[in-house]
Amino acid sequence: MTAPIYRRILLKLSGEALAGGGRESIDPDVLEGLAGDVRDLVGEGIQVALVIGGGNIFRGAGLAARGMDRVTGDQIGMLATLVNALAMQDALERRGVPTRVMSALSVASVCEDHSPRRALRHLAQRRVVIFAAGTGNPFFTTDSAASLRAIEIGADLLIKATKVDGIYSADPLRVADATFYPRISYDRALREGLQVMDTTAIVLCRDHGMALRVMNINEPGALLRLLRGDDVGSLVVSGD
Ligand code: UDP
Repeated sequence: MTAPIYRRILLKLSGEALAGGGRESIDPDVLEGLAGDVRDLVGEGIQVALVIGGGNIFRGAGLAARGMDRVTGDQIGMLATLVNALAMQDALERRGVPTRVMSALSVASVCEDHSPRRALRHLAQRRVVIFAAGTGNPFFTTDSAASLRAIEIGADLLIKATKVDGIYSADPLRVADATFYPRISYDRALREGLQVMDTTAIVLCRDHGMALRVMNINEPGALLRLLRGDDVGSLVVSGD
């Protein structure tokens, strides 16, 4: 079997990835499946950091449009990411994978505060680190938090997990003849407004040379194949 070509990765899951399309905000079967995938990566000797969104529970912008103070809404959204992080920590630890949740908002009785230095120590000790509460600031997203944390910990690769096989010219679930891009530049993705990650997240990756892959998290075995060097999903690269 081929050894992994990456030493340290950051995997970004949306909150909706935990919901699995059902009525519950966290589908236990989906959560267990994802935790199993992460355990397999750790078993390969890869240092794994996770950022999980909160959109399955709460998004600040939604209620702000109905009159809620945006900063409060975003704080609720960031706390929603902590809910998902704790659920994932529990699922991982039941599988024997030591895991630390680090929150960008201080909730000291529940998990550690975010600290890049301590995160690196945890990763070196083969603990999965889940970065919760986004960037800790309103008006940002967990995509931006994923880029930021990936850069901060010197990840070899940022993986954005989606429901489709990678980056397309349009949403392939709606547009039948959407073109698939196995490779695309950060600048083109930005120019064409492709749904890769939000602008801030892509610009951060571009400006700091963070390698970014977009792939389908629901394809069995795809994550492991990617980390062993297969060309899975779409790669976002510099230049045009
Ligand atoms: N959020 C925020 N700052 C951050 C990250 C997230 O205010 O740095 C809030 C924001 O309200 C957002 C919510 O948390 O809508 C959930 O995050 P996101 O929408 O990125 O989750 P995802 O779509 O990945 O599930």
